[in-house]
Formats: sequence, C-alpha cells, structure tokens
Amino acid sequence: MSNIPSLTLNTNASMPLLGLGVYKATAPGEVEGAIATALDLGYRLIDTASAYKNEEGVGRGIRSSSVPRKELFITTKLWNTAQRIGDIDGAFQRSLDRLGLDYVDLYLIHWASANYIETWKAMEEVYNAGKIKAIGVSNFQIHHLEDLMSHTEIIPMINQIETHPAFPQDELRAFMAQHAIIHEAWGPLGQGKNDLLTQAVLLELAEQYGKTPAQIVLRWHIERGIVVIPKSVTPSRIRENRDIFDFSLSKEDMDKVATLNTGERYSGNPDDQEFLTRTSIRPN
Ligand code: NDP
Repeated sequence: MSNIPSLTLNTNASMPLLGLGVYKATAPGEVEGAIATALDLGYRLIDTASAYKNEEGVGRGIRSSSVPRKELFITTKLWNTAQRIGDIDGAFQRSLDRLGLDYVDLYLIHWASANYIETWKAMEEVYNAGKIKAIGVSNFQIHHLEDLMSHTEIIPMINQIETHPAFPQDELRAFMAQHAIIHEAWGPLGQGKNDLLTQAVLLELAEQYGKTPAQIVLRWHIERGIVVIPKSVTPSRIRENRDIFDFSLSKEDMDKVATLNTGERYSGNPDDQEFLTRTSIRPN
C-alpha cells in the first residue's frame, strides 16, 4: 500500500501528490527498473509522454509489478505533431497500445501548439467516451488558458508546468487557483541545472531539517499544494524523493526558499514559436 498523500480531482479520482517522472529514461531496461523501484516504495503516479519514447517500457514496468492497475495513476501526453494532423483519437490509441493499457488516468496536451483549441475539443470527446479519466494541459500560459476556456466546455483539470524555486510561477499559479486548475510541477528539482541544489539557502535548510536539498525543494512544492514528479533512475534518489512526508517547512523557511526566485526558466518557453515549430517535426 502507498501512503503518499493525494488530492481529489473534480472527477472524484485521487491523484498522488508525488509521482515518478521518466523523461530521458530511455536506456534499455532503465525505465522498467525505475518503475519497479518506485512502485516498491509506494509511488503510484508515473508521468510519461509519447515524445519520451518510453511508453512501451513504462507498460512493461507496470505489468511486472503486482500493484493493481486501479491503484496506479498513469499520465501520458499528446505530442505537437498530432495536433497538426488532427488525429487526436489515433494518437491517443497509439499511446494506449504502446503502454498496453485500456485507459490512462490523465492525458495532457504537451505544449500549446497550433490548433490547441481543436485538439482540446477532440480530447473532450475521448474523455466523454470514458477512455481517459482526466484531461489537462501542459505548458499553458494564462493567455492560452483564457483562450481555451472561452472556446471549449471542460476547464483543464491540470496544468503541468516548469516550476522550481528559481521559477515559482506565482502569477500563473494564482490564475490556476482561481479556476481550480491543479498545478503540477515538471522540472521540480530544476532538472539538475544551474547548481540549484547546491545553493547556500538549501544547504542550510537541509542541515537544519536533517534532509537533503532535493527533499527541501520537493517539500517546498508540497507545502504550496503542487503535485511533483521528480525524475530519477537512481534507486537511492527515488527513495530520497519519496521521503518528504515526515516533515514540514515553517513559513519562515518557505520564505527562505522563495529568495531563490530569479524569474528564469531553465527550459523551453511556451510562447517560443520557433521552439514549437521545431519540436513539431518529431513523430508522435
Ligand atoms: P527534475 O527536476 O525532475 O530533475 C531530474 C534530474 O535530477 C535528473 O538528472 C536526476 O538524475 C536528478 N535527480 C533526481 N533526484 C535527485 C536527488 N534527490 N538529488 C539530486 N539529483 C536528483 O527534471 P525533469 O525534467 O526530469 O522533470 C521531471 C518530470 O517532469 C520529467 O521526468 C517528465 O516526466 C516531466 N516533464 C514534463 C515536461 C513537459 O513539458 N510537460 C518537460 C520536462 C519534464 P538521475 O535520474 O540520474 O538520478
């Protein structure tokens, strides 16, 4: 059994506050190994995407485990190309086939690529047909969400966005809270970039709480009500990232972590049209 806390979606489904990210886990056997470790430790949420090229491995990892399917929360994402060709149900079915599943718990539009409104309408249909338990978006800015909500029926249940202490997304987070859109953080550890985890503030807090800098950062997200999906293929780190529910950060220490805000993204900008066009070239 898992004792990772969860939140309740407006569908009444439970979504764990902590999951395993698997971006770049593509070496042979790598994602299967990470999933086996994570499920043993009580993780139940796995976050993949068609673009990660490891949905088959995720499926194998899930099938090797004795955890019943209904206890798992599997997320995958629709890649940009599929939005162009208007083949949403086909792309979704191909993801299901690769995963070896007959439903996913969460399906996300990966980026606000061209046609995201038409894409969302098609996703609403697949959702209404019952093959997806929840639908959401990823990398949507306020203007994308406003545009989407003014043209479609279902408000995205989740927006998965780059979020870490250097880039806390306060404005978008407040907007999402107003509309009851759940905030899920990708790159919650800053993707190992820019020495985030060796900042003096985090080293000091780690010492004070008897935790690691990564655990301080993940706990900071949890205190803010954000779902985190740290990626690791290292068993000791998968365990470390899971051990964040036995302490809490004081208001004063939350404020200390907040001083790391530089307003700097570490990865792709959702408004970068050149990026969206370039990434659309990859097959779905
Ligand atoms: P993360 O912030 O999760 O950082 C992952 C990196 O940190 C890896 O190099 C990992 O190394 C390392 N790491 C993990 N745990 C620790 C630890 N305890 N101490 C020190 N280093 C650690 O970045 P990601 O980009 O992977 O984001 C997480 C997930 O979010 C992705 O895997 C993916 O599922 C999703 N994502 C979604 C995006 C989107 O556009 N929607 C974009 C990017 C990611 P190692 O594996 O070697 O242990």
